[in-house]
Amino acid sequence: MTPNVAIRAMRATGLNNDDDVYSDDHLPPWDARDLSSVALLLDVDGTILDLAATPSSVVVPSALRTSLDTLYARCGGALALVSGRLIENLDLLFEPLRLPAIGGHGAQIRLRTDDPIRLRSAPAIGSALHELVAGLAFDPRVMIEDKGTSLAVHYRLAPELGPALDVKLRGMVDALGGDALEVLHGKLVIEIKSARVNKGEAVRELMRHEPFAQRTPVFIGDDTTDEAVFRNLPGLGGVGYSVERAMAGASGAFRSPADVRAWLSHLCGREPQS
Ligand SMILES: [Mg+2]
Repeated sequence: MTPNVAIRAMRATGLNNDDDVYSDDHLPPWDARDLSSVALLLDVDGTILDLAATPSSVVVPSALRTSLDTLYARCGGALALVSGRLIENLDLLFEPLRLPAIGGHGAQIRLRTDDPIRLRSAPAIGSALHELVAGLAFDPRVMIEDKGTSLAVHYRLAPELGPALDVKLRGMVDALGGDALEVLHGKLVIEIKSARVNKGEAVRELMRHEPFAQRTPVFIGDDTTDEAVFRNLPGLGGVGYSVERAMAGASGAFRSPADVRAWLSHLCGREPQS
């Protein structure tokens, strides 16, 4: 069966060229029979879920829940969500499904579904910065999301505000946070987090533990915060794929979150569904 999934072929010297081709030849080369040696690591927003106007308005298709549940079992429990959202929020989003996870961009980790959520690093966002950032919500189209371990300023409803918000946030961080804080640019979101925490280090920790250890990590991610994972994959013997655009360290790119979901469905042996 040829899956209804297209992966953008990336040449080492031709990333993002208009003449990039789409071909099933560049599908991640695993199928359901091979999952005994694979650890599936999936970013959430923009990777397996379509982005929405606000983080709380994303939709989790029921077919995706089914795929994740099936693949979790077929990977022997070695399937984890790797997200900027807190794990508590992921649990609510995917309810009743509960999966191993890295949350808060690496600030939290849960190796097994029954484990408690463990904080890998103390929150570095002080109350002074909270108050300053809250002041940015002068425009109702700007949404401040307090993730507990990071602060996200969403301007999806007003993209033209991006440059001004960036200047203000950098000024606040320079004045208050110094080197302890990092400003990250995502898709119409600017995020402030501890510079000590990132998804790449958290994935490295995850892969040291059962049921992930000794498996080949296969990571899919779409945004700036995923770059740290792509950088660490060679050292873990893993492979990564990006979404919508070529990214350094990725072996290929899915065209959209819908294509990622279709591939996951294909891995389960079902016809793709969105
Ligand atoms: Mg993402």
